[in-house]
Amino acid sequence: MVNKSELLEHFQKNPEKYWKFDFLKEKGFVRKTCSTCGRGFWTLDTERKHCPDPGCGEIYGFIGNPVGKKLSYIEMWKTFESFFKKHGHTSISRYPVIARWRPDLYFTIASIVDFQRFDNGVMTFDYPANPLIVPQVCLRFNDIANVGVTGRHHTSFVMPGQHAFNWPKEGYWKEECIQLNYEFLTKELKIPPEELVYVEELWTMPDFSAFGPYLETYVRGLELVNSGFMEFAWHNGIVELPVKVVDVGWGLERLTWLVNGTPTGYDVIFSDAIKRFKRRTGIEYDKEVFLKYAQLSGKLDIEEVRNLNTVRREIAKKIGIEEKKLLEKIEPIQAMYAILDHTRTLTFAIADGALPSNTGAGYFLRLVFRRASEFLKKFNFSLELSEIAIWHINELKSIFPELKEREREIVEILEVEKKKYEASKERSRKIIAKYKGRPLKVEDLVRLYDSQGITPEELGIETPEEFYQMIQKLHPVSLKKKEEKEFVDVSGLPETKVLFYDPIYEFKAKVIKVFPGSWVVLDQTAFYPTKGGQAHDTGKINELNVLDVRSVGKVILHKVDGELKEGEEVYCKIDKKRREILTKHHDAVHIVNGVVKKLIGSWCNQAGSDVRVDSARLDVTHYSAFTEEQTEKIEDAANEIVQKALPIKKLVLPRIEAEKKYGFTIYQGGYVPSKQIRIVEIPGVDVEACGGTHGDNTRDVGWIVITRVKKISDSVVRIELKAGEAAETWLKERERILKEVAEELGTNEDSVVEAVEKLFERWKKLRKEIKKRKK
Ligand SMILES: [Zn+2]
Ligand SMILES: [Zn+2]
Repeated sequence: MVNKSELLEHFQKNPEKYWKFDFLKEKGFVRKTCSTCGRGFWTLDTERKHCPDPGCGEIYGFIGNPVGKKLSYIEMWKTFESFFKKHGHTSISRYPVIARWRPDLYFTIASIVDFQRFDNGVMTFDYPANPLIVPQVCLRFNDIANVGVTGRHHTSFVMPGQHAFNWPKEGYWKEECIQLNYEFLTKELKIPPEELVYVEELWTMPDFSAFGPYLETYVRGLELVNSGFMEFAWHNGIVELPVKVVDVGWGLERLTWLVNGTPTGYDVIFSDAIKRFKRRTGIEYDKEVFLKYAQLSGKLDIEEVRNLNTVRREIAKKIGIEEKKLLEKIEPIQAMYAILDHTRTLTFAIADGALPSNTGAGYFLRLVFRRASEFLKKFNFSLELSEIAIWHINELKSIFPELKEREREIVEILEVEKKKYEASKERSRKIIAKYKGRPLKVEDLVRLYDSQGITPEELGIETPEEFYQMIQKLHPVSLKKKEEKEFVDVSGLPETKVLFYDPIYEFKAKVIKVFPGSWVVLDQTAFYPTKGGQAHDTGKINELNVLDVRSVGKVILHKVDGELKEGEEVYCKIDKKRREILTKHHDAVHIVNGVVKKLIGSWCNQAGSDVRVDSARLDVTHYSAFTEEQTEKIEDAANEIVQKALPIKKLVLPRIEAEKKYGFTIYQGGYVPSKQIRIVEIPGVDVEACGGTHGDNTRDVGWIVITRVKKISDSVVRIELKAGEAAETWLKERERILKEVAEELGTNEDSVVEAVEKLFERWKKLRKEIKKRKK
């Protein structure tokens, strides 16, 4: 396999081939090579020796000395939007920050992620318009320690994406892209052309399935935009991709920072929030010192700088101030910036349905919540993160109105998280007392945070530089799932024709393959395999029992208790009764899922489900177990939907259309979308991408009884339920208990109850009584 530096070296030997931009030449730009890093760059300044990267010696020359047209953060987006719309781009709304459509990522880390899809492991692009722009909010947690310090690091930022797909059939390519770049910067933002420097770079997918030349645009040491051209792939050598993609990621924060020349980027993007923060906390802000500090702190990239203290000492010396004094002045300000950044991240994530927790995506949300909370405490800022979130919502609502719509939820989750944080502090008090004052290694600190939620600050230790990097290593943000190895190799076999979405319970088929262990592949089948949380069908193939049914890719395998021959014609019969119960349970799971989202909160998403014959299980994301009242309300609302006799609609749509029409919450419980997806919709109740078997009307589900609700992890609640006959049988069993309890309690006992409805009502009463008795 090739590696990035080899490729870059190869590219750099042929710059005329890979970074050929006639437009820049026409404008008088010359290509030079950086004396420090060796990369090629394009400039109008014939004297320039090194590229404009701060790592190669450049300083942030715009701080205190802005360039271009002065615009606010919001105005910058509006200007960008109108320019690109004028030049044929469609402006679309942002995608969620939680990448529900991607099996490999928790968060949307770049605008191009919106449009990347994988079909059988091959990356493809789905896009609603071409070319397009999008104000994509991105979350990244790999530089947490830098946030607040460098002026340019964020855990959330807006990447205005500029994308053109499917070149050469549609879209546009390098020349037009750089021309748009140049014109936006020089004509719209009024940046003099001699300020622009274009640096040659290489971008690649980690597996080299796509890569290509990039051109970074710098102004006075600040990288404003990356113009990427996905042009090649690696298949035992460089091959051209048949369809090429322009992937330009602008930095809204950076553009605004440049034209305002403030000490940090945070000053312009949180301008209103900072005013409020200062007013509320009386935080002191020595503008003079901070300006000088900021100009020099472009180097303060903790990733690259081995010793933060050394750099700080150097800066203090240059400013002519004692290091301790410098820290006193800058630390509270840096804490404020970090608090504002982290709160904005939480605001977007919660608005998009995420919850802070101990695992997965939620892990990083809890991490920034706690970091922000520790800062509030350390500097005695008497503010709540929930009120800061409201400042952000109001400041951003003209671009992101959806935040305002979710204000209630955002505040609720932040308040709940604060309670959890305080409770965990209370719990960890003893542990802190035990460890306080002891010499602790970074590894110990990481372990204490990971297992107990105790931050180094709580132990009175300044957070070591590598702390967040080590945490990050323990919790990779990508690769949600590992590809599982399949139990048989079905390559070369045709797709099995699927009959189970039609009411077919008896059918003829041909055996096309028999694998060891009596796993039989038919040319067509009505046997539903275990998938999407629904258990498989059983029945007969000829005289043999079908014990298990599984799918591998698009091939369905049946395990039978006997022998069949390849080529044989067989007669198949499904256990209809079993299928009907499974179908009712699956319908019930969708109904309850929809009800929970409505009654409890928009953050309640399916974390998993298990649809079996005797019962079904639905796991939803929520911060605490449901109360008895909530459970009862959910159960009542679910049964109301059954009574309303709503249609259960099923339709197959191209993925991009389904996403456009229903949004990304259709991806529940880790569903991985393929090109065509099947949508199951109960109008007004629930819409999900789902491959399971479903009835046609909610009326057919019968009764839904919630038999148990249990918190199974910090952010997941498990609902166990029964529907239809399974519910009736279960209720009848309870009748016996009911009688016993009634006797013991001395309450009147009715005559034999037969109606399921009555049974159900009594079960609810009984449930309460049992609970009371337990107490
Ligand atoms: Zn350089
Ligand atoms: Zn489903």
